[in-house]
Order: sequence, then structure tokens, then C-alpha cells
Amino acid sequence: MPDAVRASFSFLADLRCLGCGATHEVGYRLSCPCCGGLLELRFDTNALAARRPDELSGRGMWRYHWMLPARAPEHVVSMGEGGTPMLDARRLARHLGIRRLWLKFEGTNPTGTVKDRTSSTALTAAREFGFPAVGVVSTGNAGSSIASYAAWAGLRSFIFCYERGSQPKMAHMAACASDFILYRGGYDDMIGIFDRLVEELPVFDCGASRNPFKHEGKKTLAYEVAEDLGWRAPDYYVSPVGVGETFIASHRGFEELRAAGWIERTPRMIAAQSDRADPVVAALRSGGGLVGRRIGYTVAEGVAVGDPKAKGAWVLRILRENGGLAAAVSDEEVLAAQALVARAEGVWAGPTGCVSLAALIRLVREGAIDPGGEAVCVLTETGLKGEYARVEREPVAPEYASIRALVEARLAAGQ
Ligand SMILES: *Cc1c(COP(=O)(O)O)cnc(C)c1O
Ligand SMILES: [Zn+2]
Repeated sequence: MPDAVRASFSFLADLRCLGCGATHEVGYRLSCPCCGGLLELRFDTNALAARRPDELSGRGMWRYHWMLPARAPEHVVSMGEGGTPMLDARRLARHLGIRRLWLKFEGTNPTGTVKDRTSSTALTAAREFGFPAVGVVSTGNAGSSIASYAAWAGLRSFIFCYERGSQPKMAHMAACASDFILYRGGYDDMIGIFDRLVEELPVFDCGASRNPFKHEGKKTLAYEVAEDLGWRAPDYYVSPVGVGETFIASHRGFEELRAAGWIERTPRMIAAQSDRADPVVAALRSGGGLVGRRIGYTVAEGVAVGDPKAKGAWVLRILRENGGLAAAVSDEEVLAAQALVARAEGVWAGPTGCVSLAALIRLVREGAIDPGGEAVCVLTETGLKGEYARVEREPVAPEYASIRALVEARLAAGQ
């Protein structure tokens, strides 16, 4: 690879602290050396402004490699993530009472969730910084994604999964991880221990709380959405919020595109949470700061985070500064949204994946959304990795006449 090509592969410029504003050279850092604040990667948007969309090439999220952290193409750890469908859901839009609704369906990623985008940038960085092992704390999706990507990159993986993880996810992790460890309790009980572990041992932090390299991959959602809309943003962009990576990274993706002049304006951001784990929504409503809390079980286990700490506060800041909206939905609303999008559009997404849709439905109903607007809902996971109650139906006999009569009767009934 000639040096000129190498230098132009990524426009990564530096690391900036969200706390004190200090900038730092690119390197593996989990917090600001000056104030302990969160760090984010910054890219040269002027360099992007000098390029044109028709210069993009390749498939998947590395199509936007200029705005991703990798020094050279041969360092990229990719399993084909990104490039997910943007489905123009006309029946569902009509049903909801909104002019246009697109479903950004993340279930087609290699391990079935949005997590693969961050696993790709995380493992790329882990290899570039020479780590022998990676680790993550998970309710199932991050663990199965990191386990796969670590195996693909040839690194060891310490996967800490909560004991209630679904069996399909556990089977996946047990198969792909070098070291699969179950823990008692929820995500919040384990993350503090893990954060200390990765500071003291040569284990690359693939957790969601701090590592800016891991965080970055999810911003490609914004790039894909903008490109699929012909380089513009929708009116509303609905993202689930667990720790907040998907929301924050998507927001910055849109901001970068606007700074580079590739889109004219950014969307109104909508944060969707489960009402059993809703610290961001509660803080937005009360007008106060983010208060972490102990949470109970929710079917939306990918967003079962009671204390998203600094990233939760960051989500809150974005919502306040940009006039964003937020809604916390019940498990019943989540399951109703899951059933609705399955029946109306044939999209089989998991419960966590439907939190965004449930929130949009609620906000439309409450009159908080302009019905003449256009919304994009990120459905963050496939339904294929979940566990469900047994489907009960009385089996019919394989006999032509009776089956024909049954189908005829049902057609006549208009079902
Ligand atoms: C992890 C996860 C999320 C949200 O997590 P963030 O940390 O807020 O990005 C949403 N949906 C699914 C399916 C997830 O696995
Ligand atoms: Zn700082």
C-alpha cells in the first residue's frame, strides 16, 4: 500500500474530551488524562467536504472508511456488517398515521444486531494496538457479536454474560468465545468490576461505557440512512438508548455529514427506552440531571441499563441542545410493536429491536410528531435470537379435501 493511499484511508484527526474539551493524540485511551472525562474520536470533516459521495466504493459500513478509525485497509476486521436494509414501510406508516416511515433493519448483520458495527471498529482497534485479548459485559447481543468478531480476528475473548441471557445467544457465545463466563445479576452489577479489570490487565475494552474506538462503528447508521435517502436526513430519527452508543454515534454521524456539506440539516433525534430502565427519559422530563437506578427485568434486555453514567448524560445533553424527543415504553407496548411490524411488514425483529417503533407509535398517538413528517426507526436486532413461548395450534391432518375446505373458508372470511 503506497503511503498516500494509507494517509487518505481515514480522516481520523484526534481525541477530544467531552468534559474539559482538551484534545489528545490518537491512542488507546479510555478517559481524559486531564479530567477523567469521556473521549470521542474526531475526524477531519474538511477532508470529507473535499470528497464527493460518488467516490464512495465497496459494500457495508467500511464504504465510509474515511470517517472510521483504521490506519490501513489491511487492518480492518470486518465480517460484512452494515449495508442493512432501509425498508419503506408503507402499510405501517399508514397504520401509525405518519406520512413516511423507514425501518432501518439491523437484523441482517452477521450476528443479527447493530452491535456488529461497533464490534468491527473495536476489533480493528484491538489489533492495531496489539492486544492479545478483548472483553465485554453483555446481556447477550454484545457478547455474541464480540465473541464472533474476536474469533474472526484471531484474538482471545472474555465474554461476561448475565445469567438470564437467551439460550440462542448463550449457545452462540459458548461456541465462539475463547472464555465464556456467566455472572449473577444485571449489567449494572458487573460493569464497574469490568471497567477496573480492563485498566489492570491486557484485555481490550469492548464495553459500551468508555472506549471511543468501539463506540464509533455505530455512526455508520447515519451515513447509510443519509445515503439511502439521497444524501439528506429524515425529519425524525428514532433510536433505542441503553448505554447510549447507538443514539450518540448516530447523532454525530449526521453532524459530521452536515459539517462536510453532504447533507443540509440533521434530523430531530428521538430517544427510546424501556419504562423499566428509563433514566434518560426521566431526567429529560424532570429537567434535572441523570440519576442511575436499580432496574427490574424487561423483555427489551438489550436496553436493560439502569445507570448509563457519562454516556447517558451525553444523550441527555444532545436531546436538550437539539430539541429532541424521548419516550419510555412498557414491555406490553414493545411486544405489541414487535407483533405489528411482523404482521404488517414481515419484519421479524427482537423485542429490544422494537423499542424504537413502540416509542414512535406512542409519540404519534400523543401528537408529539408531525403526521406530515418522515421518520426512520432503527430496529436494532433480529427476532431469531430470542426465546419465545411455545406456539400452540391444533395440528391438522394432511388430507387434501379438508385442508382445501379450510383454506377456502378462510379466504371467504377475508382473513
Ligand atoms: C445494545 C443494544 C441496543 C442499545 O444499546 P446502546 O448502548 O444504547 O447503543 C439496542 N438494541 C439492541 C438490540 C442492542 O443489543
Ligand atoms: Zn478532559
